[in-house]
Amino acid sequence: MASTALADLPRLRRAGAIGQTLVIVVALAAVSYALVFGLGRMGERIAVQMCVFVSAVVALGLFTGNSGIVSFGHSAFMALGAYTAGILSMPAMMQRTALAQLPDALKGWELSPWVALVPAAGIGLVAAGLSGLAIARLRGASATISTLGLLIIVHSVLIGAREITRGSQTFFGVPRVTTFEIALGAAVLFILAARLYRESRWGLMLRAVRDDEAAATALGINARAVKYGAWVLSGAMAAVAGALYGFMLGAFSPTTFYFGLMFSLVAMLIIGGMATVSGAVTGVVLVTLLQDGVRQLEGGGTVAGVELPAVFGLTTVALSAAILLVIWLRPDGLIGTREVRLPGHARLIALLLPRREQAPAAPMHAAKELTISRLTKHFAGLTAVDCADFQVPPGQVTGLIGPNGAGKSTVVNLITAQFLADEGSIRFGTDELRGRAAHAIAPLGLARTFQNLRLFGTLTVYENVLVAALAAGHAGRAASALALREIAALELSDAATTTAAALPYGARKRLEIARCLASGPSLILLDEPAAGMNPDETADLGERLKRLTAERGIGLLLIDHDLEFVNRLSSSIVVMNRGKVIASGTPEAIRQDPAVIEAYIGRGRARRVDDDAKTTDYAKEGAST
Ligand code: ADP
Ligand code: MG
Repeated sequence: MASTALADLPRLRRAGAIGQTLVIVVALAAVSYALVFGLGRMGERIAVQMCVFVSAVVALGLFTGNSGIVSFGHSAFMALGAYTAGILSMPAMMQRTALAQLPDALKGWELSPWVALVPAAGIGLVAAGLSGLAIARLRGASATISTLGLLIIVHSVLIGAREITRGSQTFFGVPRVTTFEIALGAAVLFILAARLYRESRWGLMLRAVRDDEAAATALGINARAVKYGAWVLSGAMAAVAGALYGFMLGAFSPTTFYFGLMFSLVAMLIIGGMATVSGAVTGVVLVTLLQDGVRQLEGGGTVAGVELPAVFGLTTVALSAAILLVIWLRPDGLIGTREVRLPGHARLIALLLPRREQAPAAPMHAAKELTISRLTKHFAGLTAVDCADFQVPPGQVTGLIGPNGAGKSTVVNLITAQFLADEGSIRFGTDELRGRAAHAIAPLGLARTFQNLRLFGTLTVYENVLVAALAAGHAGRAASALALREIAALELSDAATTTAAALPYGARKRLEIARCLASGPSLILLDEPAAGMNPDETADLGERLKRLTAERGIGLLLIDHDLEFVNRLSSSIVVMNRGKVIASGTPEAIRQDPAVIEAYIGRGRARRVDDDAKTTDYAKEGAST
């Protein structure tokens, strides 16, 4: 991609998102109108339900898709929304019959159904706000199971609060006002909201957390906060969808919103593909058509002259079979991990978007010295880092070497608060890092790479770097300018729109460094950046690092077991062995240090080594075993 095209990338990306949203909206409208005009009243009933479910599943997908955490709790938010809106909009006459024991505060509001959507959203917000305090702290399966707990709790409360909900009896008298136009309009609004969220800084940060929480945290992203935000927003949206569902049904009970509904919502999302908004919509449309098609057969009948028996539960069986098939054949759902696109639409729409000048990137953090004192970390009986003392001066390359298991990576993990230190202090300039949360380290100007590459696999190269700039607090346009600069600096321009997972190894390594640079650090901790590279690639990386640090005055703490590589770049070297710092000084001094030679090649052979070059070679052998 030429440099002009790279500068156009943010505009093309925006145009692409607009185009993708148009495709979904037009497709949904087309199917809905086809049902209405093709099947008459029955078609209209199916279309209304389909559109209400689009709203609900899109709300569910806003959390589940972007966080990767399946939620079984969203039908509980729908229930809360439906009951709240139902009670507040019910005619007073009806209320006296249906809800004779209703507390005075809830009596006789007779709100317009559209106004009642506001308190419905409010109760979703409160319920999600409270439950999110626990759920946003959890990951993966434990988070999912706690959402199931939420569903069960809300169900029990609805049954127990008999004065307000009629308990397990049918709750009736709710105005039936969800018409076809309203359902479709709401679905379109929900799609727009979900699409906007997905592309917003919060959506991008949450997707980064989903792909790799540790790497996202090291960029300064507060994983708990972004998960919480998505959970609350999606809970409020689900409550509104629930209210619309209530206004569609007119009468319902707690069971309406229990396992059956939850299963349908999750099935729709999984079948379509939970990572995208187009997946959510596709899932709803296909499952609705499947269910309504199969339901015709459930009671028996004749198809093409063949007499069919009545089969109870056929729709559930069909839905389960569809899920199994999809999970087996397309684990990411029918749509997969990228939004539905039309070829070339981004370029077409981009012509209509204004060309905006990119603001120049903000200056980076001031250089500061990193001082490690008496740093200690125990792992169940093993002392991985033992009273380590050393400094990393600003604007220079400091090597950190030592045999495997010496504790080098652990030191980095302690500095960036991935692990909590047992003793000692870590000062960066005047700031003490110990006691800070992991996401509060990067904002001080400290970035890192990981020994095993940790990229955001489903995000593009551009998005990987962009999210780092956004996490560093840059506004939208400055962030994209910064991202483009780093992509060009690391020669990734040609791959800017490729997903990180699809990159070749060398490019992935460069991407990790570009991502680091975009967070504007004054010190970067590089944990074995040359691991897995051939000698040419290593030399190339060395040159690049030298240039970047010299040009920008960034300091490096460079860990590698290729001693020649470390020697060539570093102005000073720290040597660790068995958790202890055993030497530090200039590369020349380190090469002749008897303690270092001994650590690398053992006492017996150390005496036989007399020349520097040989020491380096032996040391390399020793370190890479
Ligand atoms: P290096 O990076 O120098 O090769 P590490 O810092 O990865 O060494 O490991 C130092 C020691 O700490 C090793 O013995 C390793 O097994 C141990 N260790 C590292 N991480 C953990 C962990 N999360 N749990 C238990 N032991 C660990
Ligand atoms: Mg290591």
